[in-house]
Amino acid sequence: MAKKPRTGCLPFRRRRPLGPLGHVLVLGLGKSGQAVVRYCQGLLGDRVESITVAGGVPCEDSRVFAADRAAPQVEFSFDQDEVCGAFDLCIASPGIPPSSSLYRSAQSASTEVVSEVEFAWREDNGASLWIAVTGTNGKSTTTALIAHILNANGQKARAVGNIGDTCLDAVREGAADVYVTEVSSYQLASTRDFAPDIAVLLNITPDHLSWHGNYEAYVAAKTKVFENLPGVPAAFAILNAADAGVFPVVEHFRAQTIEQRGFHYIAIGSPGSISAPLDGADECAFVRDRAMCWSYPSGETTFGSVDDLKIKGAHNVVNALSAALCATLFGAPPEEVAAALRAFAPLEHRIEPCGTVGGVVCYNDSKATNVDATVKALAAFGDERPIVLLGGEDKGTDLAALVCATEQYARAAVCFGAAGPRFLEAFAHSALPHFGAVALEDAFDTALDHASPGDIVILSPACASFDAFDDFEHRGRAFKALVSRRAHERGA
Ligand code: ADP
Repeated sequence: MAKKPRTGCLPFRRRRPLGPLGHVLVLGLGKSGQAVVRYCQGLLGDRVESITVAGGVPCEDSRVFAADRAAPQVEFSFDQDEVCGAFDLCIASPGIPPSSSLYRSAQSASTEVVSEVEFAWREDNGASLWIAVTGTNGKSTTTALIAHILNANGQKARAVGNIGDTCLDAVREGAADVYVTEVSSYQLASTRDFAPDIAVLLNITPDHLSWHGNYEAYVAAKTKVFENLPGVPAAFAILNAADAGVFPVVEHFRAQTIEQRGFHYIAIGSPGSISAPLDGADECAFVRDRAMCWSYPSGETTFGSVDDLKIKGAHNVVNALSAALCATLFGAPPEEVAAALRAFAPLEHRIEPCGTVGGVVCYNDSKATNVDATVKALAAFGDERPIVLLGGEDKGTDLAALVCATEQYARAAVCFGAAGPRFLEAFAHSALPHFGAVALEDAFDTALDHASPGDIVILSPACASFDAFDDFEHRGRAFKALVSRRAHERGA
């Protein structure tokens, strides 16, 4: 076993005394903002003197929350461009970009501005271990998978962040030994002290660029996840070296000694491949003869065969390896890890099998909201060549890689929604059959018209959903309802 995996009794570390928070400003009143208000209201008159909430653009839910929570020393307002006053701490929600005048005025008015993850981590009493998972894609799957394996091993682990409860709600309940947290680039941009015990970086491809300003700022936010590892005893970084966006970070770590770096790292794969170990890495994980392996100076551990995974595709092998490494470092025996990996089914909206229509097999991959996620999903089907439904709210990203991957892995493309015309235009010179459709329903019917029994149709849109749906979940549920309806009308 490498590096003495931590088993049994988890270390107790009081990171910092829980001192006064003073006058607290909350920016945004979505899920994380509401969690912060709930938490801080419990501390009013003790560690918190007042709570001021700048709720941003209101919705029904945030208005109802504000009405329910109105109390002395708690002030809510919405729709403002600026905040005035003086605050000791501001907790900003991901919905408020740093470039906005609201965020900038909060910075001027507050001693510091942090994300909800940072705040939750600070408020944790130090009895728990933290695993942070970031990357452009795969965070939810990997986070869920890590918690699943640790729980199968009898540890009290909780998947938190976008995937479930907010970190702060979970910390308030205090019921976990291990918090496995999915951290977005938005949240990382406003961290300062956050220091997980293990930090995982799955991939980096251009996304959310308007929020961050440019690609460099996006990469800088993602790599902040490693910034405080040197202060954590026995900390590990796990990085996907096969991903072109992550590899420069791996190279940087590889060029340092452990003393210079201050923590261990494990590289998954090597440039462009998960099937070869990385030369010169301290430790690496890779696939050999279909087996998932972890190689370290004193030996090797395997976590079973990639063929036994229910989650499809090479990208999910990276997710599985990352999760297996985390769980093993936290003391789960490899054979239990392998059994838990085999049992893990795809999360909803992530290459989720969702029925058949006239023998055509349908998958809901509504969570693929960017080009890279769709490219990985198509590649997961190998020679099966699905018909892919592409479109939604256009993020304006370059489509060359998408067209190339669709030609390589798909049978046809149907482009729909607000982005439909631009996507269709991108296929204008392609020999691949491609069709236009107005909305998701027409797109699905067009795909069915061109499919034969045994073919695959996948909604993997490479776009956000907000042109026609509340979010990707709404879109995914609408697609699944459509599949059920057509199966009912035409037979499964
Ligand atoms: P996130 O939480 O980062 O959005 P998810 O686990 O929800 O990630 O997966 C989102 C989409 O990204 C899925 O639809 C899947 O097709 C794709 N995906 C999952 N894991 C990876 C990965 N490691 N690399 C690239 N794409 C991935």
